[in-house]
Amino acid sequence: MIIKNNLEQILQSLPKACTLVAVSKTHPPELVLQAYEAGQRVFGENKVQEMVAKYEVLPKDVQWHLIGHLQSNKVKYIAPFVHLIHSVDSLKLLQEIDKQASKNKRIISCLLQVHVAQEETKFGFSPKEIEAFMQSTELPLLQSTRVIGLMGMASFTDNKQQIREEFIILKKLFDTLKQGSLPLNVSMTELSMGMSSDYTLAIEEGSTMVRVGSAIFGTRNYTNG
Ligand SMILES: *Cc1c(COP(=O)(O)O)cnc(C)c1O
Repeated sequence: MIIKNNLEQILQSLPKACTLVAVSKTHPPELVLQAYEAGQRVFGENKVQEMVAKYEVLPKDVQWHLIGHLQSNKVKYIAPFVHLIHSVDSLKLLQEIDKQASKNKRIISCLLQVHVAQEETKFGFSPKEIEAFMQSTELPLLQSTRVIGLMGMASFTDNKQQIREEFIILKKLFDTLKQGSLPLNVSMTELSMGMSSDYTLAIEEGSTMVRVGSAIFGTRNYTNG
């Protein structure tokens, strides 16, 4: 019953309009099912293979969110069922998602991953790159994808002020884009930011979607995957 209690506690602190993505990576389907039975329907995974394996054994009304880096050659495995991809970091990837969505006669919703943390990472657009991306002539041509917002991660630090400032940068970018002119297949409705250690800060700064793992399922044992 720990999972149920954790979920209830987190949901109590979330505004109604904010979606809780329960990040179930590394945890076995039996634990995901416990969260499902407590009423949770939205789950996040960071690896394609693991998400497919869980999709196959868990109830079909689960909404699966991919939150980790996605390689173009693996899009085909999740295209039949994925609900939202948080981690789009290139036009090439978005084009492949569009192609696979079309093959499956689906429209797949996506978020653009924005890099605001201090750490070096190869993934995600810079805020400047996002603004340029919106001007791309290729973007409006995509028929089977919808970009519905942004996803970002704050720095891995105890410095709450720094984390807050990074969330503020994301929210400002989100609002600026929202007020500007966007292609028809792009809207700024979801801002995915906040994890176990910083989701309350993220909510204060305007998050609409928090991705919470360890605060629900406990610490992860990476030797299991
Ligand atoms: C693992 C992960 C999370 C959840 O992390 P917790 O600290 O366990 O809440 C959120 N977002 C992404 C992108 C992740 O990879």
